[in-house]
Formats: sequence, structure tokens, C-alpha cells
Amino acid sequence: DHGLSEADPHVRTIIDKEKQRQFRSLELIASENFTSRAVMEAVGSCLTNKYSEGLPGKRYYGGNEFIDELETLCQERALAAFHLDGKKWGVNVQPLSGSPANFEVYTALLNPHDRIMGLDLPHGGHLSHGFMTPKRRVSGTSIYFESMPYRLDESTGIVDYDMLEKTANLFRPKLIIAGASAYPRDFDYPRMRKIADAVGAFLMMDMAHISGLVAASVVADPFEYCDVVTTTTHKSLRGPRGGMIFFKREPVLGVDLESAVNNAVFPGLQGGPHNHTIGGLAVCLNYAQSPEFRAYQNTVVSNCRALANRLIELGYKLVSGGTDNHLVLVDLRPLGIDGARVEKILDMASITLNKNSVPGDSCDKSAQVPGGIRIGSPAMTTRGFTEKEFIATADFIHEGVKIALKAKRSVSGSKLQDFMKFIGSPDFALMDLVSE
Ligand code: PLP
Repeated sequence: DHGLSEADPHVRTIIDKEKQRQFRSLELIASENFTSRAVMEAVGSCLTNKYSEGLPGKRYYGGNEFIDELETLCQERALAAFHLDGKKWGVNVQPLSGSPANFEVYTALLNPHDRIMGLDLPHGGHLSHGFMTPKRRVSGTSIYFESMPYRLDESTGIVDYDMLEKTANLFRPKLIIAGASAYPRDFDYPRMRKIADAVGAFLMMDMAHISGLVAASVVADPFEYCDVVTTTTHKSLRGPRGGMIFFKREPVLGVDLESAVNNAVFPGLQGGPHNHTIGGLAVCLNYAQSPEFRAYQNTVVSNCRALANRLIELGYKLVSGGTDNHLVLVDLRPLGIDGARVEKILDMASITLNKNSVPGDSCDKSAQVPGGIRIGSPAMTTRGFTEKEFIATADFIHEGVKIALKAKRSVSGSKLQDFMKFIGSPDFALMDLVSE
């Protein structure tokens, strides 16, 4: 039995190149992070070899005594990391990732074609919250359930709770979803709870982006108000790629959430759990209870604020005017440039972030050429960045935006394709890129 270098040098080389890329770049994608060596060790272990359909003590395969111990430990640590009383809350740690976890909740609580309301994707929501365009039901969630997204108030960049309330009263959803992929502010859980109660809906929070911040109590606690909380485990939480579903043990609206959620995960939508991931997650959740982790999450937020303030000083328009969490959303439209061009230019300088739609983007063209960029602080905070480095990062981004603007002016026509061709050409290399 050979190691990777001998058994498959091709894959080894690709991994080495990706490692180098991760090492040399400024990683600013808000949903990414660098997990610890201890987590990587668990994920790369023999746990991947084992089948264990079912739950601890109730498996469909033999040989699960250690897997049972591991999954029980992971569940206990998950509840402890989020300060939950095991008599009131339970957790399923088997979801393979965030989107499956969300779909599992929908199938647990709803019948096909029941109504849901989540934050619209162009306003910061996630695909799995029910995204659809006027022409197409894009996400499986909007294909199998009836989705009526709520939106931000475009003048403030904050969720329009008044409109959510009015629409919910008319649409009568059975589930309201809090949580987002590109929203720099906290959710008003008490308000959302009131709206859900008034129409007899379940309230779910998808805390994927901010679960590390929730565990460290640096943002509001969704568990006080929600019936179900889902999360990915690989973003601010710094774990392996995976998902979790937390559920209230008390029945809600006549539904036993515990059995509904557990059955939706298996046998509803999944087979055998990924035990290597559950091993890595247990390691991450132990770390998530440490003072170092709390200090890290506080720094994630203060670093992000420093970045936001510097961008504002440089004249940028931020959606909602700033940030309370780990990300900022920059609206580039006032500058006459889009997020795709800026993302591409910054990529060439090993600054990795993503183009992102901003409120007011037109739905048709926004996916490929959206009006903004999303910048996150978790990954570079893991690598030791302080406010000083994040301020310098804002300055680098500013240089990139200036170059993108200059390149755009040099391209005849306005097609993104022509822009991409130009920046790959010798003409671009010969441009005086720094002076304005
Ligand atoms: N929920 C939110 C809020 C997310 O931002 C994401 C991913 O970015 C997901 C769910 C989906 O997670 P995954 O990519 O693991 O399916």
C-alpha cells in the first residue's frame, strides 16, 4: 500500500499546487476558512471506511461501538458549544453539508408544495432558501416547495421586516427562514418569531455563515427564538465540510421535531454518515468551547469592522453602511464597474474574494456580472491578520478596483468577455497599472 506521492503523483501534484495557492493568496471568501491540523487528521483517518446507517445505539451495521462513541461525543460537544441544554435541544450531526441539511429540515416539517419564505438570493439569501427567478425555479427548494422570498429595504440594506410581515400575512407560509450568505447585519429574531407565530409558521435559522460567531456569543443567539437551527461546519466555525441540524425537543405546531428531523436525514435523504467528518467536527466543537476560539471570533468581527471602515474612508459604498459580523458587501455600481471584473483582477494578484449581487441588481444579468463584491475576515484572521493587515488589505483592493476601472476604459464595448480577453493580452501587461 503506497502513499499518495507514489500511488498517484498526478493528484499529489494538484493538491500541492492548491496548497501553494492557499498559502500565497489573501483568502477573503467569507464562507471559507482554514481548519486546524487536528481536524484534518481526523478527516483523513480510518473513520472514512465505516458504514453506520442509523443513530448511536440503533445502527443497521455491526462493528459500530466506536462510531457510536464518536457520534455521541460529537452531539454532546455540539450542544455544549452552542450553550444548549440537552433536555431542551437535540442535534443531528450527520448532514453531509449545508444545502442537504436545509432540505432535510424542509422535508421534515413540510409537505410537498407547502409555502416557505427565505431571504431572496440577490439580497443575500442562499440558493437553498428557495431561490427562483421570474423565468425559472432554480433551487430544488423552489421546485418542491412554494417559495415567496422576502427582501431587504434597498434604502437601508436591512431586512424589510414590515414587508415580510405584510407578505407573510397574505402568503401564510408554513416555514420562515432566517439566515443568509451575504448579509453583514444580524437578524431580528424576536420580530421574526412574532411574524411566524402570527401566521402559524415554524421559524428556522440557517446560521451557516455565522455559527462560529454564535458559538462565541459575539452575535445574537438564534436558539432563543427559533424552532430549528441549521449550519454548515466549515465556515466561521472552522470545522470540516459538513452540516448540523439542531431541533427543539418539545413538539412544535404538533410536530415531534426530533423524530421528523432524524428520519428526514436517514432514511429520508441520506445513507451512511461520513464518520471521518463527524470525527473532525467533534474536534472542532471541542475547540469551539475554548477561550482562544472566543478570542478568535471577536477578532474576526473587529478585523472586519476595520476593513469596512477603511473601505468607507476610501469612498466605497457598503450595503447597510457597514458590518456587525464577518463580512462586508461592497456596492461597486456607483463606480461604474461590476464585481466580476474586480474579482478577476484581484485574482491575478492572489487576492481571492467573490463577486456578489447587491440589492437592486437586475435579476437576469446579476449572477455572472453582479454589482458588488463580498469580503470576509474569518480565513485571514485564522492566519494571524490583525486590524492593521486588514486596513492594508482594503488598500490593496482599492488598487485592484482602480486597475479594473482603467482596463475597462481601455476595452471597446462593454462585454465581460472582451474585458477578460484584454486582461490576458500583452496590451494589458504593458499598461501603466499603478498611476491613475
Ligand atoms: N446556507 C448558507 C447560509 C450558506 O451560505 C451556504 C453556503 O455557502 C449553505 C447553506 C450551503 O452550504 P453547502 O455549500 O455546504 O451546501
